[in-house]
Amino acid sequence: MKVPFVDLHAQYLSIKDDIDSAIANVISETAFIGGEPVKSFEKNYAELYGVKHCIGVANGTDSLYIAMKMLGIGTGDEVITVANSWISTSETIGQTGAKPVFVDIELNYFTIDVNKIEEKITSKTKAIIPVHLYGHPADMDPILALCKKHNLKLIEDCAQAHFAEYKGKRVGLFGDIASFSFYPGKNLGAYGDAGCLITNNDELALKCRRYANHGALVKHEHDIEGVNSRLDGLQAAILNAKLPFILKWTDARRGLANRYYDILSDIAGIELPSEASYAKHVYHLFVIRCSSRDKVQKYLSEAGIGTAIHYPTPLPLMKAYTHLGYNASTINITDKYSREILSIPMYPELTEDMQLHVKNTLELISKY
Ligand SMILES: *Cc1c(COP(=O)(O)O)cnc(C)c1O
Repeated sequence: MKVPFVDLHAQYLSIKDDIDSAIANVISETAFIGGEPVKSFEKNYAELYGVKHCIGVANGTDSLYIAMKMLGIGTGDEVITVANSWISTSETIGQTGAKPVFVDIELNYFTIDVNKIEEKITSKTKAIIPVHLYGHPADMDPILALCKKHNLKLIEDCAQAHFAEYKGKRVGLFGDIASFSFYPGKNLGAYGDAGCLITNNDELALKCRRYANHGALVKHEHDIEGVNSRLDGLQAAILNAKLPFILKWTDARRGLANRYYDILSDIAGIELPSEASYAKHVYHLFVIRCSSRDKVQKYLSEAGIGTAIHYPTPLPLMKAYTHLGYNASTINITDKYSREILSIPMYPELTEDMQLHVKNTLELISKY
């Protein structure tokens, strides 16, 4: 039996008519840039999310960059983020001219260790970017307290955590602004690159919208120099067609996660992820840990089961950051986990049979 790591085609088939007609509409209306699909997605996403403003942009990397730029972050500043993330989180700090400052993760939830943030705050620190990694919210209360105490901006990287909750409130509603990615494999995925920002701050929303559209809110009126980072019309229409299903898909992910907890918990040699009492995890990824990870990955692959590693190298130990002088001991949990973590198949269309195949294979491996 084949269990692919992700299966975007299965989801397409489940809503094929909606998607096909959404795409056909954009083409017949030639609403390729801006226009109705983009407006309507921004409105629908903001409404469903419970936020005043949604600004569609080209991808979930630009959104981070635009947010920081519009919050006034630039050369000479420092921005604190987490060592375990996708490079977008830190490369955009660099793009503004600021310096990324990396904090290790805590032991249980793979998110930023809130007890190690304050020691990194200097007079140059301007902002904190927590990442709600794998769909699990970062511990927001201590982060909010630090932002208040040190007068720091808070930008939430929600790329993997659409509709996740911290203490009953959705992630993305805690900071000054939050960034989402709609990369195809994300919980809400387009059929190409797409992203957005959400905020309740009117002025910041306007600034981001203007900056993302060449510094203009009205055609040919460029108040400032900006960038070209707009949400594509086709992508907006596809996202609009998918949006009515996102809460159902999120529930499906949580149901599948619970089933994994049930059937995998007795297998020796693997550590399952956990959900904090404050969290509603949306399981973008289901990340297990095992000491002989590479061997396990190989056996799973031979049994037709796709897996991935998020992420094999901690950000501060990447070549791109050698100039910052981090060594493994400064981020030792991230470093240790990078050799143990393995993301196993997790998507709403995963079946019980497929989960059983994962279980049976892991069980066999554990007996060697
Ligand atoms: C996917 C992702 C991004 C970037 O999103 P793109 O749309 O691919 O540019 C940023 N941060 C994290 C944590 C991500 O997983």
